[in-house]
Amino acid sequence: MFDKFHEECAVVGVHGHPEAANMVYLGLYALQHRGQESSGIVSSDGDVLISHRQMGLVADVFKEDIIKNLQGASAIGHNRYSTSGQTDIKNAQPFVVEYADGPIAVSHNGNLVNANELRQQLEESGSIFQSTSDTEVIVHLIATSKEKTLTDRVVDALHRVKGSYSLVFLTTHTMIAARDPLGFRPLIVGRFRGEGERDAWVAASETCVLDLIEAEYVREVEPGEVLVFSRGGMESLKPFPEATPARCIFESIYFARPDSNVYGHSVYQYRKELGRQLARESHIDADIVTPVPDSGVPAAIGYAEQSGIPLDLALIRNHYVGRTFIEPQQHIRNFGVKIKLNAMREVLQGKRVVVVDDSIVRGTTSQKIIRMLREAGAAEVHVRISSPPTISPCYYGIDTPTHKELIASVHSVDGIRSFIGADSLAYLSREGLYTFFKGNDAGYCDACFTANYPVLADDNGKTPQLHLFEAVSRR
Ligand code: AMP
Repeated sequence: MFDKFHEECAVVGVHGHPEAANMVYLGLYALQHRGQESSGIVSSDGDVLISHRQMGLVADVFKEDIIKNLQGASAIGHNRYSTSGQTDIKNAQPFVVEYADGPIAVSHNGNLVNANELRQQLEESGSIFQSTSDTEVIVHLIATSKEKTLTDRVVDALHRVKGSYSLVFLTTHTMIAARDPLGFRPLIVGRFRGEGERDAWVAASETCVLDLIEAEYVREVEPGEVLVFSRGGMESLKPFPEATPARCIFESIYFARPDSNVYGHSVYQYRKELGRQLARESHIDADIVTPVPDSGVPAAIGYAEQSGIPLDLALIRNHYVGRTFIEPQQHIRNFGVKIKLNAMREVLQGKRVVVVDDSIVRGTTSQKIIRMLREAGAAEVHVRISSPPTISPCYYGIDTPTHKELIASVHSVDGIRSFIGADSLAYLSREGLYTFFKGNDAGYCDACFTANYPVLADDNGKTPQLHLFEAVSRR
């Protein structure tokens, strides 16, 4: 019924600020890496919700006149990412529906796994869906809840959905931020200090938003926490039993921006430590260490620092690659990668090279990069990956292919080395992921590397059924 269940997204909300929509726009701009398919903002002018959603990048979706039209002191926004499945404006968020007390809008990052069954129940009792996205279920559950107050309706709805969610809701007067009980996806709170008046509040996927809009970092929204922002300020509710969190470690490894602080730690410092640990675990004699930009850069710096091998940039990235380039009729070797990365002969000629990247998914990018490095003169190419082999799909909101397509799910490390054409290949150990936390691995989800799903999925993930609370005690 729903088109797909793996969605990476960005959420932002601002409450009580004279330029709310503009702040949300800037926030979405800072979070463009979390979703490039569509973008949207809904603002409240105190009487009605005003919405603009469109396919495309933030800078293309919002022009000055559109932002001006999104009036009011509160707004929420969303960037949606999708690599496959339906790319449709109907699935662009925030979603807006009417309930007894007026309109409510929602932005969601994560993946609800019981959405199909809930949608069926809701449709049988008369709800009319506008999209094929699982997120819309949440607003219909709020609209049809028997509870009286907005907050009780939201809490009631959240008790019925299963899966991962970092959410921001908006009504004409209230903004609500909520994170699922295991805290799979990040969500933080920031504040603009009121000068003599009330403070304004920000909720966002990552802290890099706060740096841009000059708001101060307050803290993470805690797993299972619901924060209500109204004229009275911020109120915290904890409607779920406390559980050991399952925060996505892949956010820290790859997905979040390195200048963000996620789960209370610096993403950049974490990635550098992964690189240092990788050098401790699998040192090799070489002339240069080089990153695959941008994702491999912090780990390569850490690797070079630890190993004493000089860091050099052998691969240069074109940052302006859109989806709409025209492919040449004539065959060009490694075209797909070359359009994004170019290898420098001046740096590589005759050199033994350590190439550092954060992960190998299908293996096709690494294969092309290595071919390109050799063609540009590298004498030896040693690949070092700053995370363990990605063996299992994510059911909690990171876009990963199925088991069959994950190269590490079907091949040994040496099989992968041979496929990508490297002289040597080494991954970080699972323990290595946690040296930054002094070996403490409690509170993180690393199911993509271990298949140890903190909440269980049935029949190989075709219909993930998360048994949320039964599974909590496993960790
Ligand atoms: P490949 O092995 O060719 O599938 O691609 C590996 C590259 O994809 C690495 O450089 C990673 O940084 C990057 N990567 C890892 N996970 C994801 C993801 N969920 N979405 C997009 N790119 C990713």
